[in-house]
Amino acid sequence: MISEFDLIDKYFKRKPISATLGVGDDCALLTPKMGTQIAISSDMLVSGIHFFADTDPYQLGHKSLAVNLSDLAAMGAKPIGFTLALSLPEINEPWLKAFSEGMFALANQFHCELIGGDTTHGPLNICITIFGEIPIDHAIRRDRAMPNDDIWVSGTLGDARCALEHLLHNTTLDLNVFKALEPRLLKPTPRIELGISLRNIAHSALDISDGLIGDLQHILDASHLGATIYPDEVPKSDALLQCDFNLQRIATLTGGDDYELCFTAPQNKRDAVLKAAASCDVLVKRIGYTQKELGLRLLNLDGTPIEFNHTSFDHFA
Ligand code: ADP
Ligand code: MG
Repeated sequence: MISEFDLIDKYFKRKPISATLGVGDDCALLTPKMGTQIAISSDMLVSGIHFFADTDPYQLGHKSLAVNLSDLAAMGAKPIGFTLALSLPEINEPWLKAFSEGMFALANQFHCELIGGDTTHGPLNICITIFGEIPIDHAIRRDRAMPNDDIWVSGTLGDARCALEHLLHNTTLDLNVFKALEPRLLKPTPRIELGISLRNIAHSALDISDGLIGDLQHILDASHLGATIYPDEVPKSDALLQCDFNLQRIATLTGGDDYELCFTAPQNKRDAVLKAAASCDVLVKRIGYTQKELGLRLLNLDGTPIEFNHTSFDHFA
């Protein structure tokens, strides 16, 4: 059996690229570029809560980093590096190999390097803290939405939740439909390029990790605004359109785990938003607008109100 330090050397230590000092000392060292701020975020993935214990380790490595990259995307930050705090029930080398390969494949894609971490014995738990850079005062924050902003979302929503619903409750979902939905749950795509290209366009943004209506409410609360959205405008994948309509609605409005961006932008920036999204090959869709009147209104396309009593995910609710 290899030791803790051999494990770190073998699976997690790599030569630093842009970090001044990487894995191996008491701290890593980053030297921020002149005129930049550091964006920092942590996300913890707990076995049995955020993923099934038998999840494919390559995909788990990808997802652990993807959810953190997604937070950088939501601020318009460019990834620099991350730390990995890992609690492992045992040293399982095939598992560690696949996990680190999945994680590093995504890290390489975004030039984001592993600069340190911690490794302990315990229940399987993965905590990543990520660092990104952003020109001073250019971060896209939650508290900067303005009244009459358009509300946009990227990609399509609901796939991950619909796949999870099937795994948890064995729904009557067609196997091919499930196979089309499942990658969104297991290997989400962080919208880094989109976040960066929205820097001087969007007023506010976040990534949808707990469900559209709950996450949008965070922007509204922080910006002291209300909003109207049209659930029929929320983009859905072809696979999701094959599912039960009620499930489509619950999945698109309250399903987390898609890691798409929800952002607001002034109406006179519609062309700029579409151009920014096209430049990074991502679809974006307007789903509503912000208002001075507080509260979130859900309307049918004909303007009649929608009764909807489901809420977004809350770990303690
Ligand atoms: P210390 O006891 O000083 O906190 P550790 O023994 O925990 O240091 O870690 C030794 C070195 O290995 C440190 O540079 C730390 O950042 C790094 N490290 C530990 N675990 C990981 C990991 N899972 N991934 C990357 N680096 C790690
Ligand atoms: Mg330590």
